[in-house]
Amino acid sequence: MRYISTRGAAPDLSFEQVLLAGLARDGGLYVPETWPKFSKSDIRAMRGLSYSEVALEVMRPYVAGAISDADFKAMIDAAYASFGHPAVVPLKQLDHGMFLAELFHGPTLAFKDCALQLVGRLFDHVLAKRGEKVTIVGATSGDTGSAAIEACRDREAIEVFILHPKGRVSDVQRKQMTSVMAPNIHNIALEGTFDDCQDMVKALFADEALRDRYNLSAVNSINWARIMAQIVYYFTTALTLGAPDRKIAFAVPTGNFGNVFAAYCAYQMGLPIERFIIGSNANDILTRYMDTGRMEMNDVTATLSPSMDIQISSNFERLLFDSYKRDGAKVAKAMDTFRAKRSVDFGKSRWTFIRKMFDGYRLGDNGTKEVISAIHKMTGELIDPHSAVGIEAAGRARLSGELDPDTALIAMATAHPAKFPKAVEEATGIYPNLPPRLADLMDRPEKCDLLPNDIGAVKAYLATRLAQRKAA
Ligand SMILES: *Cc1c(COP(=O)(O)O)cnc(C)c1O
Repeated sequence: MRYISTRGAAPDLSFEQVLLAGLARDGGLYVPETWPKFSKSDIRAMRGLSYSEVALEVMRPYVAGAISDADFKAMIDAAYASFGHPAVVPLKQLDHGMFLAELFHGPTLAFKDCALQLVGRLFDHVLAKRGEKVTIVGATSGDTGSAAIEACRDREAIEVFILHPKGRVSDVQRKQMTSVMAPNIHNIALEGTFDDCQDMVKALFADEALRDRYNLSAVNSINWARIMAQIVYYFTTALTLGAPDRKIAFAVPTGNFGNVFAAYCAYQMGLPIERFIIGSNANDILTRYMDTGRMEMNDVTATLSPSMDIQISSNFERLLFDSYKRDGAKVAKAMDTFRAKRSVDFGKSRWTFIRKMFDGYRLGDNGTKEVISAIHKMTGELIDPHSAVGIEAAGRARLSGELDPDTALIAMATAHPAKFPKAVEEATGIYPNLPPRLADLMDRPEKCDLLPNDIGAVKAYLATRLAQRKAA
């Protein structure tokens, strides 16, 4: 499989290269040159397979030619053995026709482990084969950082620098990052928002000399391998509920558009999906786009669901690329306009293409607490604020009357309630406890450096830390 950039002006790459490259050199994101296709009978044949077995089937075409089946299987098995539930992504029924896919049973209790536990192992494997080392630089609004750190800690060939917006991630999220004492892990609290962190990472990547000197790489959701690994649970959950012979719709609490884009990839691969339902918090750039056809940046608002507190959904560009019939020059032009004017209209035919498949709903903090409380009263389940946004979006999509009544609606539960205990306690009166393996988390010591939102300061920090590590 070859990979091409959404902006059409970067060289096409192999799987190994795309794994290590992250953002393309023309500023675009990599996507597969073609979508591997499964027929309905191919999909039926996956029924009854374990999570790891489906993972191997679904992802094999994307790594073909780069990684042997035996090696890939071993990595998949090890990655999902780290989960706290034997089903890896179990389904719970919430209501008639409404299900919850629990994506949070990995080591850091959020859905990002589903991808990163595999991606960390893929990096190790590919780097060892090539005799190379990389410096991973990532921005996090909370969950990516801890998941990346957990996936890469103590790995010889990888240095990890994670930037989080100071004071804007939950205590549990911060502790999960800063309590890791592995010498290859470097935590930066940046004075700014998540978008400032993300811009900083983009600026580091834009410096080609620096990028080459440190062999910079990314594991945030612009990395294709993460999207690839997320496709798997759309297959496993749909199969459990009768796909491809029953209609399925997915509701996904959305920030950077990585998770829901993986659902779109599953659809392109042949999994019948009736609709993609996006839930957003007050940071609702996508929902406003669905409503109006205009993509318009606003300032970031802090909410109860901080992992969705962003105003630019990077992965949306991958969908946009398909909506422009894969014309990279047109995507590049549209994204330049968006950057310059903070607002862009991609045109009626793009909007029609996207709205045919996607709906968007927004939920504020008060509504989020109401949903957490209502679900608890109805089912006894505690859910986290991000998952609540997705569940509400699913419910409203059902009420809209646009879905077939027989459609199984699957809401994605993206974080464990104990990751956001304050909101859950305010909504239900119950303080959700961390699982036993993390029970002492809040007492662990921390390692983190505070930096201003200044590219010079961040570059100097990288240089100093990497020099110290080389000397050690
Ligand atoms: C990252 C994250 C999201 C948003 O996912 P995207 O792929 O960025 O859309 C939602 N919920 C939680 C808990 C997350 O960690």
